Amino acid sequence: MYWTSFLPPRWPVAETYYPQRQRCKGCGKAFPPSGAIRLQFCSYPCAGMPYPPQKPTEAPRECVTTKEGALAWKRRWKWEGEIPEKIKGDPSVSTYLCGSCGFTHIGHSRKLEVEETRVVRSRKELAEVLVKSRGRASLKEVAAVAKIRPIRLKELEDPSSEKVDLDALFAVLALYKVKLAVVFR
Ligand SMILES: [Zn+2]
Ligand SMILES: [Zn+2]
Repeated sequence: MYWTSFLPPRWPVAETYYPQRQRCKGCGKAFPPSGAIRLQFCSYPCAGMPYPPQKPTEAPRECVTTKEGALAWKRRWKWEGEIPEKIKGDPSVSTYLCGSCGFTHIGHSRKLEVEETRVVRSRKELAEVLVKSRGRASLKEVAAVAKIRPIRLKELEDPSSEKVDLDALFAVLALYKVKLAVVFR
């Protein structure tokens, strides 16, 4: 018989996170001054995560920002509470735990009142706008919300597709909050 069989059953314990948590959930060591990875671990191996890339150009979008035209690391905050209120108070600011470095970053959702205008001159440019607007969402996800068939969206995003379903186009434009304007010259 193993001695472990005498241990009491494991009760579910409420998860604690940095800064309430002061020791690594994996190995029990104290956190380094840089803080805790995923608010719980002392190192990437303890968190079961690969080491983040060495260069911003190799890092995923969620960990980098554009500074003076070049990719740069986003500031790593130890946790949300470290972010000054004057930054957090801005309604266009959101915070998230980065899947690459395991620390907290600030994201800026684009302010909707700032209208961005882009002239679309061709089928190809329209397709580009649609692909860009969809972002990371899948065809299926967007189609479900816009109440159209995914294939219709796929056709719209494909400049070589001969089929353009205008009802589907306006449904996704409304969803993306993109307006089409006619310019007379
Ligand atoms: Zn650890
Ligand atoms: Zn990151």
